[in-house]
Amino acid sequence: MTNYQNIVVLTGAGISAESGLSTFRGDDGLWENHRLEDVATPEAFRRDPELVHRFYNMRRANLGTVRPNPAHKALARLEQEHDGEVLVITQNIDDLHERGGSRNILHMHGELLKVHCRSCAEVFDWSGDIDETVECPDCGVIPSLRPHIVWFGEMPFCMYEIDEALRSCDLFVSIGTSGNVYPAAGFVAQVSAMGRARSIELNLEPSEGVSLFNEARQGPASKLVPEFVERLLAGEA
Ligand code: NAD
Repeated sequence: MTNYQNIVVLTGAGISAESGLSTFRGDDGLWENHRLEDVATPEAFRRDPELVHRFYNMRRANLGTVRPNPAHKALARLEQEHDGEVLVITQNIDDLHERGGSRNILHMHGELLKVHCRSCAEVFDWSGDIDETVECPDCGVIPSLRPHIVWFGEMPFCMYEIDEALRSCDLFVSIGTSGNVYPAAGFVAQVSAMGRARSIELNLEPSEGVSLFNEARQGPASKLVPEFVERLLAGEA
């Protein structure tokens, strides 16, 4: 029995790091050896679509080589055993929350396993490669498909649902996110300004916004998250 009714969990690249997916900002500031401006902006896609396709094709193919870790599984356990609501808002584009067993998930930055048509806007499940020669299965336009990913400078998905969830939660937990990328980095300020919810950060190191949280713990997600879920379900957190 937890002390909370509506729990919102925000996750970032750090929760998938121990599954073998690299975070955005390694020490070299590169993501998988690429500058973010070359692969994760609409300008990059206009300039060199085949490079951007190759980059995301590799990320998509790489999903087959990684597995959910104990942190993903612990959040699924929380969703199953908590008698109120648990919503995972993830900035991650991988599918490790789904494969870990979570069901109530919003992918605010999109999903590697989806593409959309920039002509008709239809979204498709997609597990293989795409390039500029593939036609849209719906409208038939070529070139048309792009990764269903929110790039820098684009509007994140599900913002209305996220705003509603932040307003109604009584516990906000942030896991494995650096607090650098907005709007997600601003969620804790929004929650604390409303004064209804307790906020907790679980991260390898203190994030940029750590002072806004009521509580912060540092360590690897695969250890911190299962311990935290155990305490939460026992009514001790
Ligand atoms: P980020 O790379 O900016 O920060 C990751 C954070 O996780 C850092 O604060 C780091 O200290 C922490 N961390 C690293 N290893 C950890 C571990 N084992 N346990 C706990 N914490 C750990 O990532 P972010 O804040 O999510 O940045 C947002 C962007 O990163 C999003 O747009 C997202 O789409 C993108 N991204 C996603 C993936 C993925 O889907 N797996 C991978 C790389 C980047």
